[in-house]
Amino acid sequence: MATFSIEASDTDSFARLGRLRTLHGHISTPAFVPLASRGAVKGLLPAEVASIGFQMVLGNTFHLMLSPGAELIEQLGGLHSFIGWEGPIITDSGGFQVFSMGHGTVADEIKSRAPHRARASSRGTVLAIEEQGVRFRSYIDGSQHRLTPERSMQVQASLRSDIALAFDECTPFHVSRDYTARSMERTHRWLARCIDWHEANAPKGQLLYGIVQGGVYQDLRRQSSALVASSGCDGVAIGGSLGGCKEQMHQVVGYALSELRTQAQLMPRHLLGIGEVDDLIACVQLGIDTFDCAMPTRLARHGTALVADPQSRWRMDLLRAARRADRAPLLEGCPCHACSGRLSRAYLRHLVSAREINGVRLLTEHNLSFIAALMRCLREAIASGCLPAVAAQLRGGANPHLVFSPTSSLSASADCSTFL
Ligand SMILES: [Zn+2]
Repeated sequence: MATFSIEASDTDSFARLGRLRTLHGHISTPAFVPLASRGAVKGLLPAEVASIGFQMVLGNTFHLMLSPGAELIEQLGGLHSFIGWEGPIITDSGGFQVFSMGHGTVADEIKSRAPHRARASSRGTVLAIEEQGVRFRSYIDGSQHRLTPERSMQVQASLRSDIALAFDECTPFHVSRDYTARSMERTHRWLARCIDWHEANAPKGQLLYGIVQGGVYQDLRRQSSALVASSGCDGVAIGGSLGGCKEQMHQVVGYALSELRTQAQLMPRHLLGIGEVDDLIACVQLGIDTFDCAMPTRLARHGTALVADPQSRWRMDLLRAARRADRAPLLEGCPCHACSGRLSRAYLRHLVSAREINGVRLLTEHNLSFIAALMRCLREAIASGCLPAVAAQLRGGANPHLVFSPTSSLSASADCSTFL
């Protein structure tokens, strides 16, 4: 059976409703993939992640190879049994983390923060970037490691993830076009090595995604997309710098997708590291199938809840003084423990301020419930032919838990005019 099938398409955009099949089950797309970087979605149990509605999680090659070690996880039966997650797992290649040590993160660059010695040492240190791969020092104990295309594939094979990502150079933002082009070409050479290793050694049924690089340049993004499309990979992930603002990001994703639409319509498409509410809506309309991002879980750890308010970028900072005596729950209709239990914003603020573990747990569950509802909403909208109207409503601040609720007007009649 094919890895990916398209079950419905939006006539007004490039959005598609799909089904991605893996060894550990299928994923209904478009879908968001929560991070379980070190083998846990921070604050939640696997059963809780599944009950929110997520079908796949993302494990991190870089962190897991350093601790507790890929070989140990393999010896203990692979990542699924090690972390107690029975569904599909995608693993990143380690490229993003290892290159972030040397280049800084995209967020650092946009804020013009160059990586400096102190921060670099807290993340580890890159010793050399060579054609063969990258040598670096562990941020845990200072030990030296080498990450190459073959080693990244080997680690992901040991983890037995359902989807492995090819090892790439995560090209930074503030570099020349010439560097971006050379970096992309090296990523393409590394992809060929990943494919060779994977074909000869990967666990049966593990899927391999190639990664599109090329910075913000249309011709490079198209060239990279065409190469991955014809590589024989099972899927494609879009990575690297996508620009300095949202408009540019959507444009750059569009460059890659325009090429993929003509060359590899049935390849599943993953967008790396993007998860803001408006970006999820926009990129689903561009034709992305799966997303991963630290945003919803990271915001929770910093006391911020996702709410249906585009004016505040869908965020509510509970640490602000205005929330001190706020009796309201976070969001009507949200099934999370905080909202269904009618816990006040004031109480949640107190938990976060007092660094009570329950504060992080409750906010993480709430934020992931918001993102799960948003993605469910987008899937139902594509299925019922109402995506343009539903997307406009969500952008305008509609509560994703209520758009398709049993009491909403749409469920009673599958008539999109109710949204207009
Ligand atoms: Zn909630």
